[in-house]
Amino acid sequence: MRIIKVEAKKAFYPSRLPGADYVINQYIGCQHACKYCYAKFVSRWYNYGSWGEWVVVKENMPELVKDKFVKGVVYMSSISDAYQPIEQKLKLTRRILQNMNKRIKLSVLTKSSLVLRDIDIFKQFKNIEVGLTINGFPLEIKNQIEPFSSSHLRRIHALEKLHQNGVTTYAFISPIIPGLVDVKGLIDETRSFVDFYWFELLNLRPSGEEFRTWLRQNYKRAHDILTDKNKLSEYVKDLASLVRSTRIASRGISVHYQDILIK
Ligand code: SF4
Repeated sequence: MRIIKVEAKKAFYPSRLPGADYVINQYIGCQHACKYCYAKFVSRWYNYGSWGEWVVVKENMPELVKDKFVKGVVYMSSISDAYQPIEQKLKLTRRILQNMNKRIKLSVLTKSSLVLRDIDIFKQFKNIEVGLTINGFPLEIKNQIEPFSSSHLRRIHALEKLHQNGVTTYAFISPIIPGLVDVKGLIDETRSFVDFYWFELLNLRPSGEEFRTWLRQNYKRAHDILTDKNKLSEYVKDLASLVRSTRIASRGISVHYQDILIK
């Protein structure tokens, strides 16, 4: 793993991501190395190797967030995971949270149960939500396409524990791959300790040629649905009606093919 230490110029960048006004990326790159990761494109900006083999660490971020306030929701993070393995040692995310103005509206999303370490600081924020990405991939699939993130059970446990500690939780059910992700099962498993949900269909374009080929060869039906506008529309209609039938709080279903967000 190659670690590149840099000094950042600023901490909060305006964002057009759904539900976010700003993003904060204390890391660029991610050791979780998900094969479909949409942030892989940043590898083209740097010459450090393949996605998952390097991480840029913005060492001065704890200083940069001090005495700063931004209005709107700050999303942590969009091109990395704030709780990837290196965070255990560096505690960069923890130091940023310690220094951050606690009136900032913060939305944290991770695939790691390491997030539990910072419950004490989450409790100091006036307005915070902490999400875990869940998809319940069978273990052999998870090991292939999300090799270094926490297991499904650890992520579920993290949501439960955050909830028990009074932190607002959300489940980001993603990437939804038709036939491979049991959305109803995931809702049933988590609804007693999750405050709201986001849903996202797999975004094929940024997932890259290698992943698209893997999907086509192993899950042809899913690939067909995700690449055919009519089939995808039918699938999304059924999914939206399933979500409505469960009566959970949903922030929306992101469907990248049509670039729409169903409320
Ligand atoms: S955890 Fe998120 S940022 Fe990290 S590799 Fe996976 S999809 Fe990309």
